[in-house]
Amino acid sequence: MKKLFNVIDKITLRKKLSEESFKRTTCSFYKYFNIKNLELFRDHIYILCSNLGILGRIYVANEGINAQISVPNNNLKKLKKHLHEINELKNIKIKIGVEDDGKSFEKLIVRTKSKIVADGLRIHNFDPTKVGKYLSPKKFNETMEENDSIVVDVRNHYETEIGIFEGAISPNKDTFRQSLPKIKKILKGKERKKILLYCTGGIRCEKASAYLKHHGFQDVNQLEGGIIEYAHQVKQKKIQSKFKGKNFVFDKRLGEKVTEDIISNCHQCNKPSNSHTDCAFEPCHKLFIQCKSCSMKYSGCCSIKCYESSKLSKEEIYEIKRQINNDKSVIQNKIKKTIF
Ligand SMILES: [Zn+2]
Ligand SMILES: [Zn+2]
Repeated sequence: MKKLFNVIDKITLRKKLSEESFKRTTCSFYKYFNIKNLELFRDHIYILCSNLGILGRIYVANEGINAQISVPNNNLKKLKKHLHEINELKNIKIKIGVEDDGKSFEKLIVRTKSKIVADGLRIHNFDPTKVGKYLSPKKFNETMEENDSIVVDVRNHYETEIGIFEGAISPNKDTFRQSLPKIKKILKGKERKKILLYCTGGIRCEKASAYLKHHGFQDVNQLEGGIIEYAHQVKQKKIQSKFKGKNFVFDKRLGEKVTEDIISNCHQCNKPSNSHTDCAFEPCHKLFIQCKSCSMKYSGCCSIKCYESSKLSKEEIYEIKRQINNDKSVIQNKIKKTIF
């Protein structure tokens, strides 16, 4: 029987990817709907994607599906066809990245989860299908101009650091599960104002808008397709971009340029930079912003300590890794980074 998960090691996967003669496209899709037999659905999605040579990360939960993938260009149509054959995914929109070499993922992971986006909320607290009003990028721009509108970025701190809509309020938290209560607190007393929410691809706004409506906000709106779709329309329809900088994305590119503005600084030398990277010292793996010259100076590490440690022997690094895995506080930090 075919194994329904990746069993090939990292180096082989990387080599395979670099030797590919065809092009890939990075895309994403999500849908909230009720999945009853989760394991069966998960296996079905794994087989479907694996057969089409798709790489990436797909989460399935009883509340729906959330996928960030890279698809061989020749198989894009087939993927759409197969997804549309699943009753609940009949009209699913597949969002395509703007800045893309398609080499955004090295393996295919399809994982069952309790939620497709960790929101930190109790399930029956409110109805997640009662979402806000969808605004097209053009309409979003127009509504931003209105006097009583408040633009809210529902993403995390490290995402807003490199790119944000002009005048947007941000909860400045590290995870989405911390962000929702903070947003509610910031907006207290503004229940009658026009609230304009946005996130990367729209999925977090589904939860955030339903949450705010449940808490008495009367005019909740959300950017349809998120910054990904906004960036497309800015390019294709020549709409003026009110979003400045880079859109953080959850694959190895870690960002797509929307405008040329660089609004953030290197965490090491403080010079303008918008390049996120994971610390090259594997046990650390901290996500941070690093300019080219600091990347050379520290060999991609986040600190002198990590730089020095990266020169240790394989066995010593393994030992550090083992110790870190035992340290719960470090694990918490890792979770922060991997969950939206
Ligand atoms: Zn620097
Ligand atoms: Zn480090």
